[in-house]
Amino acid sequence: MRKTPSLVVAILVACGSVTAQVTAIKAGSLIDPDTGTALANQVILIRASKVEAVGQGLTIPAGATVIDLSKMTVLPGLIDCHTHLADGAHGDGDPISQLKKSASRVVLESVPNARVTLEAGFTTVRDVGVYRALNDVALRDAINRGDIIGPRMFVAGAYITIAGGAGAMTGIAPDIQLPWDLRYGEANSPWEVRQKVRLLAHEGADHIKVLSSGAVLTHGSNPKSQEFTLEELQAAVDEAGHFGLRVESHAHSPDGIKNAIRAGVASVEHATMIDEEGLALAKLRGTYLDMDIYDEECIQEDGKNGKTPQDFLEHDREIGQLQRDNFRKAVKAGLKMSFGTDAGVCAYGENAKQFSWMVKYGMTPMQAIQSATSAAADLLGRSADLGSIKPGKYADIIAVSGDPLRDVSLLEHVQFVMKDGKVYKQ
Ligand SMILES: [Zn+2]
Repeated sequence: MRKTPSLVVAILVACGSVTAQVTAIKAGSLIDPDTGTALANQVILIRASKVEAVGQGLTIPAGATVIDLSKMTVLPGLIDCHTHLADGAHGDGDPISQLKKSASRVVLESVPNARVTLEAGFTTVRDVGVYRALNDVALRDAINRGDIIGPRMFVAGAYITIAGGAGAMTGIAPDIQLPWDLRYGEANSPWEVRQKVRLLAHEGADHIKVLSSGAVLTHGSNPKSQEFTLEELQAAVDEAGHFGLRVESHAHSPDGIKNAIRAGVASVEHATMIDEEGLALAKLRGTYLDMDIYDEECIQEDGKNGKTPQDFLEHDREIGQLQRDNFRKAVKAGLKMSFGTDAGVCAYGENAKQFSWMVKYGMTPMQAIQSATSAAADLLGRSADLGSIKPGKYADIIAVSGDPLRDVSLLEHVQFVMKDGKVYKQ
């Protein structure tokens, strides 16, 4: 009996039904973010959803499907560590518009967001919060079932925020009662924070999102303020750890950033006003900074068209450039940096526009690519599966014409997309 499985495999091989599952990609140039190098004339062998072998001059098995990318640059699928795919259609810039839609409308509007993101070359996203709680869980699960097309999603389930805080639905009269899913993540003590983490873990969240400062794009919020106490943030990180979940914190203000780092979050989102002490702390603790330095363009552009609410523009005015200057400092200090765009602020599918801004503000093209591949996979705790094209990892593979190490903006025009060994764009 113990010999039966190998006998079955032998018969299948003889019939060609196993070899038929093999795909071979001929890569003209292959970028390896793990070593920061580009290798010429590589062959990638893919079996089902995983990479089986990579190398120069590999024998392509008879019957394999051959994809010829020998005139292109091949890279691992890109990872955006800060998206909001499940918030519905890219709208008029005001969160209150969410109140004009049912939850089911919002989630159906999100279906094309997922598709355009994948087609832009982002095979994985860390989705960091949603107004309607658990819409992101539903979207992730629909993609995983194959019902709809989209990137591999790791989702937060909701925002954990103080009442009236950066992640709350604000700007409405105090006597208006919101439905449960629009106030799901509100917490106002360490024990309430723990309760929310427990609920989200139970509902299938992949990580936990907290907000430790005010926000730019929230009514009645001050991005320079601190939200949550250190004790509350420590409760979030500790409780999340019980479920094997990492925590990311939205933070603009210097104290919001430092409290989050001291509490042990995996990444600080935005990190807009990070000061010298914050930079040193992040370095010491190995905390990732996930800085969305492109979306400033969309906030200001939408402002000119009257789409961004005036109070949001006021929040943004002083700190937009500051974030870019601090990004340059963080790169210079050699901090861990991941690629996150806050997709949803700009239109979905435009994520790759951030690469050239990252290069403009101090990264090499290779560093910018690493932030969206190997570094992003490390932040997710998924380096064994994602972030480079290596045997045993998921076959998440993209290709562009030309050399993105010379002109990183070429990543805005991804021409080939494979996720899990399946081709979505060619
Ligand atoms: Zn965000």
